[in-house]
Amino acid sequence: MLELKNITKEYRTGDQVVQALKGINLKFRSNEFVSILGQSGSGKTTLLNIIGGLDRYTEGDLLINDRSTKEYKDRDWDTYRNHSVGFIFQSYNLIPHQSVLSNVELALTLSGVSKDERRERAREVLEKVGLKDHVTKRPSQLSGGQMQRVAIARALINDPEILLADEPTGALDSETSLQIMALLQEIASDRLVIMVTHNPQLAEDYSTRIIKVLDGEIISDSNPATEIEIRDSKILKNDKTFMSFFTALSLSFNNLLTKKGRTLLTAFAGSIGIIGIALIMSLSNGVQNYIARIEEDTLSSYPLTIEESTLDMGMIMGALMGVNMEELDE
Ligand code: ADP
Ligand code: MG
Repeated sequence: MLELKNITKEYRTGDQVVQALKGINLKFRSNEFVSILGQSGSGKTTLLNIIGGLDRYTEGDLLINDRSTKEYKDRDWDTYRNHSVGFIFQSYNLIPHQSVLSNVELALTLSGVSKDERRERAREVLEKVGLKDHVTKRPSQLSGGQMQRVAIARALINDPEILLADEPTGALDSETSLQIMALLQEIASDRLVIMVTHNPQLAEDYSTRIIKVLDGEIISDSNPATEIEIRDSKILKNDKTFMSFFTALSLSFNNLLTKKGRTLLTAFAGSIGIIGIALIMSLSNGVQNYIARIEEDTLSSYPLTIEESTLDMGMIMGALMGVNMEELDE
């Protein structure tokens, strides 16, 4: 269901080019626990981000369900990221001022699920990772291992087919690491888990396949997938990403509230503009009225007069041109 064909990735910073990946060929089964091992800077994070659609490859192709992603639009990438993939990071990436429950729930906001169902599913998945009694706490009130469990719950709430973990135990002590690995192993029983780590022992003990990378290239693969296994792999679900009208409304309202300062400034600047236009309009209106009044006053001192006799226009014209009508007759 996932295949990388000759994937390369270049990073350009100024006139420097870093070749982070140099032609990666990989096929994944729909159900396995893969560990990616390698030194720091060897391209592990880059590889994981490209697999999860967080970053784009420079050349090559990533096939999802046998479909090339070269023709993927932003919308297709959104759907893939939101419904098929879950991410876990070394630094947890939780929102500090939200409760554990909200942190997990938030991942469902984009899926168009109702608020009640979101809450219910968040509770369920938090119970699964062993955090039933901590749902109302803030992340800062939890231990590292517990925070990583929240992150795992958040990644699982959409029930993704693929779970990607970038050094999930990198910030944890060895005993907590083992607990998190056991949890990941359980999760891998019915989906694809790809984990980046620099701990060979953990990879050895828990995963079903170890891929080693060095300087952007694969140097070994302990259990490559065969053609037949790939063909039997199941298809990813393909729901569309959408948000209900009320979710969108409440999100934008929340957004306005959290950015109070900016909202106020914008409103203030907007009102200056409106007041300015109003002032100019009233000024020009007043000046026009004034001119009209002056005109009236001025004209009223030259009254129109109607006389009894009319003017003979022919005579006037003749006199003006100095032509004697009688001379013309002769
Ligand atoms: P790893 O996760 O194995 O430590 P990375 O995938 O993070 O390695 O990085 C691989 C190489 O790509 C490194 O040389 C790194 O400096 C470079 N790199 C990663 N991300 C960027 C970026 N955004 N811009 C420029 N270079 C990057
Ligand atoms: Mg990394």
